[in-house]
Amino acid sequence: MAELALDVPDFPQQGILFKDLTPLFASGPDFAATIDAIVAHHGPDSFDVVAGIEARGFMIASAIAYATGVGVVPVRKVGKLPRQTLRATYGLEYGQATLELHTDAFHPGQRVLVVDDVLATGGTAEATLNLIEEAGGVVAGFTVILELAFLEGRKRLKPRSVHALLTV
Ligand code: IMP
Repeated sequence: MAELALDVPDFPQQGILFKDLTPLFASGPDFAATIDAIVAHHGPDSFDVVAGIEARGFMIASAIAYATGVGVVPVRKVGKLPRQTLRATYGLEYGQATLELHTDAFHPGQRVLVVDDVLATGGTAEATLNLIEEAGGVVAGFTVILELAFLEGRKRLKPRSVHALLTV
């Protein structure tokens, strides 16, 4: 597994040890096994739609959606979605960010599986889950490939169900 997640020191800024999962995405069998494990954990009938967080979350969400026959909804960086949006600004491990979601992205009560590649401080996930609930979706679960447990992001997401395939 080690070669599928590379440590990149001082990216995107000094002092940050970035976990690069692009080798995992680039490996067909490992990417397929990752998607299968996420679907198996949640069960294909536990969600109606998948939401992916820009940008690596899009890749994971799309694969899950295709594998389970549901649709995919993008949670995007500010200024990218063309119609009326809900917006959330939050602090990151490095800097600040704003995410947006179309106000009509979900039918009321639609169960949404939310996915991203890495859970770090939890700011991105917390903002995303809040946006989804504000838009009328029900968070069926939040899944990442890799959780950086020492940053304790999971605590911010309570009481929602949080799942990580790998934890460091
Ligand atoms: P958080 O908001 O601090 O939890 O950061 C999570 C967001 O930043 C996710 O969208 C990740 O894609 C990205 N991120 C933070 N740290 C890393 C990392 O070490 N590797 C890859 N992505 C990261």
